[in-house]
Amino acid sequence: MAISPDCTVSPPAAPVEPGCCCNLKPVETSIIRIQEQVPLAPYTTLRIGGPARYFCEVTSEAMLLEAVDYARRNSLRIFVLGGGSNLLIGDQGFDGLVIHIAIDEAIAPAPDGAFINYTVTAGSEWDAFVLHVCEQGISGVECLAGIPGSVGGTPVQNVGAYGQEVAGTITAVRTFDLEANIFVTLLHDQCHFAYRHSIFNTTHRNRYIVTAVTFRFDPSARPNLNYADLERHFADWSHTSPPAPLDVYHAVRAIRHRKGMLIVEGEADCRSAGSFFKNPVVPASALSRIADNLQIPATEIPHWPASEGHVKLPAAWLLEKAGFIKGFTLGHAGISSRHTLALVNRGHATAADILALRDAIRHEVQSRFGIQLEQEPVQP
Ligand SMILES: Cc1cc2nc3c(=O)[nH]c(=O)nc-3n(C[C@H](O)[C@H](O)[C@H](O)COP(=O)(O)OP(=O)(O)OC[C@H]3O[C@@H](n4cnc5c(N)ncnc54)[C@H](O)[C@@H]3O)c2cc1C
Repeated sequence: MAISPDCTVSPPAAPVEPGCCCNLKPVETSIIRIQEQVPLAPYTTLRIGGPARYFCEVTSEAMLLEAVDYARRNSLRIFVLGGGSNLLIGDQGFDGLVIHIAIDEAIAPAPDGAFINYTVTAGSEWDAFVLHVCEQGISGVECLAGIPGSVGGTPVQNVGAYGQEVAGTITAVRTFDLEANIFVTLLHDQCHFAYRHSIFNTTHRNRYIVTAVTFRFDPSARPNLNYADLERHFADWSHTSPPAPLDVYHAVRAIRHRKGMLIVEGEADCRSAGSFFKNPVVPASALSRIADNLQIPATEIPHWPASEGHVKLPAAWLLEKAGFIKGFTLGHAGISSRHTLALVNRGHATAADILALRDAIRHEVQSRFGIQLEQEPVQP
């Protein structure tokens, strides 16, 4: 892959003697603070997970370099934590260094001919950036309103909702490359974005730490309201002008709230990691197998065209047909009362509870329809 180095950094210091990492003490180097045994559950939207053996919050690229160097010198595995909204952390926690990316600088537009660019630091809150863009009357990310988490987390799974994906506006992703030990800027095509995929969660998983993302907007673009939920929402729109990006921003948040897909403190359905399963892409022949199992005509199965000879199926529909309906409960875990795809912590759930429910769902869908559901939240 062709990459453009932005600057080089010193090579990591030589590894320490074997075994010395067991006796590490919390340290304060010139700029970073390493803490020990930090509970990770409060950093996640599922509110689940054991402690990080070592934990460091970084608010600048210089701090990030120090944190990486600390991990290398002490032979620690690294896990990069953003807003914790797409994570299922195990009950044992993480036996290495968790680097919490909190690089959060002011958002400023940069006009570029007919376009407007924004380079946004990775620790900035995604929804705050979306609101800022919409308030300027700019279209391009309004359908992605209300998605929790950080800006740096969005390219990882190419965040998408209501007909939009971040891949539609991202032009470049600035990263620290843990293999080459340099900052590199990856251009859009180098990220290989696809449905809930990029190089960051597939071929180059754990290689790049995102420190900033550049988005490009066309100020003449208008919101696309073709998605069914949005069409319904704006069906009675009586204004003379079409909905502005800010109208769509608020509409999407209202729709999400109804579905329990907006984080609202205190609401039980919010202790989730969003959709737990991706919509499976399967050979078109799978439709007749499902139809036979359910004894319905194949034409009644909701699906969208995908790549050659394949279709994409709504995972929520498959769950419901397999008996996993809204409000389903298994131990302390359950399915949201407002969204079939969201597995929720009903209070005091452990990662083991969520995994037991996940496995029960996967097993039933596999045995009834021959479809293997892919999990969306990351397990460090
Ligand atoms: C209520 C709810 C609704 C949601 N709705 C949607 C939706 O509509 N569409 C959608 O696509 N997702 C949705 N999600 C999932 C989630 O919000 C997104 O995937 C989000 O972008 C994750 O970002 P984060 O900062 O929270 O990442 P985290 O959860 O902290 O991390 C997720 C992964 O990204 C990596 N990562 C995070 N930051 C960085 C970084 N700076 N550099 C390198 N790697 C990094 C982590 O290592 C991990 O592998 C939803 C989640 C919830 C809880």
